[in-house]
Amino acid sequence: MSDNTKIEWADATVNAVNGCSVTSPGCTNCYAMKQAHRFDARRGLTTKTNGGMVWTGEVRLN
Ligand code: SF4
Repeated sequence: MSDNTKIEWADATVNAVNGCSVTSPGCTNCYAMKQAHRFDARRGLTTKTNGGMVWTGEVRLN
């Protein structure tokens, strides 16, 4: 949870769930997928392919 957000309509943010599946061409530059790939705690949520990293489809509740 973060008490510091720049989202003007929110006081705080929380990531309750991590993981997803690519569902459309709009997911091509998914920020969350790239971030998940960077963090060890989210290992297994993404996998590296010839086209770059993609979600594995696993979803975890934090
Ligand atoms: S989180 Fe990323 S992969 Fe999932 S629906 Fe949104 S853009 Fe697509």
